Amino acid sequence: MAEIGPIHHPDEDVLLDYAAGKASQATSVLVATHLALCPSCRAEVRKFEALGGALIEAEKPATMSADALTAVLSRLDDSEEDEARPVEQCDAQTLALIPQPLRGYLGSGVDSLPWKTRGIGIREAVLDFGDPAIRTSLVRIAPGARVLGHTHGDLETTMVLKGAFNDSTGRYARGDVAVATSDLDHAPVAETGEECICLIIVEGGLRFTGPLSRLMNPFVRL
Ligand SMILES: [Zn+2]
Repeated sequence: MAEIGPIHHPDEDVLLDYAAGKASQATSVLVATHLALCPSCRAEVRKFEALGGALIEAEKPATMSADALTAVLSRLDDSEEDEARPVEQCDAQTLALIPQPLRGYLGSGVDSLPWKTRGIGIREAVLDFGDPAIRTSLVRIAPGARVLGHTHGDLETTMVLKGAFNDSTGRYARGDVAVATSDLDHAPVAETGEECICLIIVEGGLRFTGPLSRLMNPFVRL
């Protein structure tokens, strides 16, 4: 079956920050991973970068050469391919599942990560992006499993890499990005039939709201 492109995209201001090089490393990797799967956001970012290059040209005609625009425009290609970053030997599942921008952070593959159980049918592997204020991890949700209801201190950005989940805001499948702010109390449920693997970035910590929330304390601590 042909793969359908993502339906849920990062917010425009996130794409703008990415294009301007102002996003955190974790967010940049998430956006680049989404771009690898999303032609429409690729076009959007290319537009922002062209605009940014044009603004640089206009503001600094004396010090910026025509090379500046070329350099800015070439950034997207760099982030898509990122050939400078050495990619370790990955297993076949990782190669098939994980777009290149994220692959370099996963060592020898998804299965080799230090997975920790975070509830029934939920496992998490924390990734190191060098910023203790932002928790970045891969989360595997078993088919049909439910993440405990929680709210967010600030912002939770989730991108689906495999399978699909549903919550009160909709259905999210491969490539889709879900953004949850502090006012959303949600409980994602993986669809039956296939495990769901997501890249999740949490800024400001999680706060579990259900009766079992005490059991989930490890989830919110590094
Ligand atoms: Zn998109």
